[in-house]
Amino acid sequence: MRFSKDDLVSALRRDEFVPYFQPLVELRSSQVEAFEVLARWLNPSVGVIAPDDFIPSIEEHGLINDLTICLLRNTFVAACDVPDRISFSVNVSPAQLHDRRLPSMIAGMAAEAGFDLRRLTVELTESALLEDLTLAGGVAAELKTHGIKLALDDFGTGYSSLSHLQALPFDEIKVDSSFVRTMVQSRQSRKITSAVVSLGHSLGLRTVAEGVEEASQAELLIWHGCNLAQGWLYERAIPADRLKEVLSRQLHVSAQSQADAERKEKDHGLGNRPMDRASQLRAIYDGAPVGLCYVDTELRYVSLNQRLAEMHGISVEAHLGRKLSEVPGFPFEEVEPYLRRSLAGEAVSAVEINASTYDPGLAASTPATMLLSYQPAHDEAGEVVGVSISVADISAVRQSEQKLLTTAEALRDSEAQLRAIIDAAPSGIVVAEGPTGTIISANPRAEMIMGCDLSPGTSWSQVVRQAFDSEGFSLLPENMPLLRAVCHGESSKNVEIYHRRQDGSARWLSLSASPYYSEDGLLKGGVVVVQELDQPSPSAFQRSGCVDYEAPAA
Ligand code: C2E
Ligand code: CA
Ligand code: CA
Repeated sequence: MRFSKDDLVSALRRDEFVPYFQPLVELRSSQVEAFEVLARWLNPSVGVIAPDDFIPSIEEHGLINDLTICLLRNTFVAACDVPDRISFSVNVSPAQLHDRRLPSMIAGMAAEAGFDLRRLTVELTESALLEDLTLAGGVAAELKTHGIKLALDDFGTGYSSLSHLQALPFDEIKVDSSFVRTMVQSRQSRKITSAVVSLGHSLGLRTVAEGVEEASQAELLIWHGCNLAQGWLYERAIPADRLKEVLSRQLHVSAQSQADAERKEKDHGLGNRPMDRASQLRAIYDGAPVGLCYVDTELRYVSLNQRLAEMHGISVEAHLGRKLSEVPGFPFEEVEPYLRRSLAGEAVSAVEINASTYDPGLAASTPATMLLSYQPAHDEAGEVVGVSISVADISAVRQSEQKLLTTAEALRDSEAQLRAIIDAAPSGIVVAEGPTGTIISANPRAEMIMGCDLSPGTSWSQVVRQAFDSEGFSLLPENMPLLRAVCHGESSKNVEIYHRRQDGSARWLSLSASPYYSEDGLLKGGVVVVQELDQPSPSAFQRSGCVDYEAPAA
């Protein structure tokens, strides 16, 4: 379509050219970050005319600056009703970049309207740079001095010379819609998109994908680490009076929100459809007791679960798109070598590191022991495209291990104390296990009194083979206090016996025995305290009837 200069000039006078706004959306969070300003001619007789149809005529008749002035004036007015964090991108024709008046013209209009130029991005195509790079470079540099950002539009078409990217101080590259449109089907488009996104990141530039029409394209772009998207999937170009409405609603259709929506639907009892699996996986991911995340080859967070965000004490969104090294959380220097190994294709599991975890109670990070595993992710061509990391906080395990060690130490200590007490006791003490009465331990005093070796393993019934009660009757070993304790759980006190030692000498002894039980109440064994009586008690005298009581021959 060709339009005469008169038609265009009168249309300009009648304000028939208006800006339409198409949102640029943060791919992962689906938040609107900016709007691209796209010209529309609201022609009273024809209706809406698209820019591709009238811009060539506008340029031909030297009216392009007038168009830009008209669009910017309207944009600055519309921007007043939009939060400051939202910026605007405006297209500038190649010819305009060779016009030294452009920067001051924009700056003058912005000052008049009270518009902060840090909210403005100028989109250029490479053809603008071909004619006179020095002049274009000068104008671009001056735009930047006003705080305006520069985007390289339609990247990947035309010349795409890397020297252009380097020559001008760009902030953003826009991947042309021709690649985005075909990337799901064509491996080549996918590789080009991935390469452009990586190139952008390695130069520190924001990457925008244009013409995103399908959710599958958005998912792939997220996978490749692209920052922003623009396209009909989110919203078409809209008139200024719809800006507020668009900002107030959720535009996206990313897998995550879709899964959430479906989970909600399912909660309301609406069937078990195939997509539920995605939401179930999402629920597992978010509900996992370990931290999980996926990072791309640039070590930027592509996704992470709620648990990891909690461990780091920052929101999930604050991680996304940022490098591991930029977000507090992982001790980057320590994890980087493992990540590199994983990026080279190796799965690395269970590496313990000393890190920290956020304690909401203290509102501060506290030291923690973490167990990390790294798993490379491959694309369909077998190339590593990222790494998934799992993080388990094993501080509690380590602490209880430490506690056990301390308890064991304490037990060892108290055992040693007990041993010392037993050894120092003036009485003989013998511990035996049930039901055999095999000695577990005995103190030196017991050995002295019994006149024999009482090392562990010795049988108590052998030790007291020749014993007599106070009446002079031979006492069977099974009636000895210790054996009654270990076999029947009986306690006895001050039982007097006459004991003949292995060397033939004999002594009056007093024995007191008690059983002991395990924690669950099972009879385990017994303890006997043995005392030597200098003189047998009067009752023993009376009953035996003589001082030099000699047992009857066995
Ligand atoms: P562009 O800068 O590449 O703008 C993107 C074009 O893609 C817009 O077409 C937009 O409506 C369209 N688009 C956005 N999302 C999708 C999608 O998902 N699918 C498809 N098929 N298309 C999508 P529009 O508005 O017709 O603009 C066409 C071109 O006109 C722009 O291409 C830009 O180069 C030029 N243009 C628009 N406004 C201006 C202006 O004010 N000044 C100058 N110099 N050029 C302008
Ligand atoms: Ca553009
Ligand atoms: Ca474009």
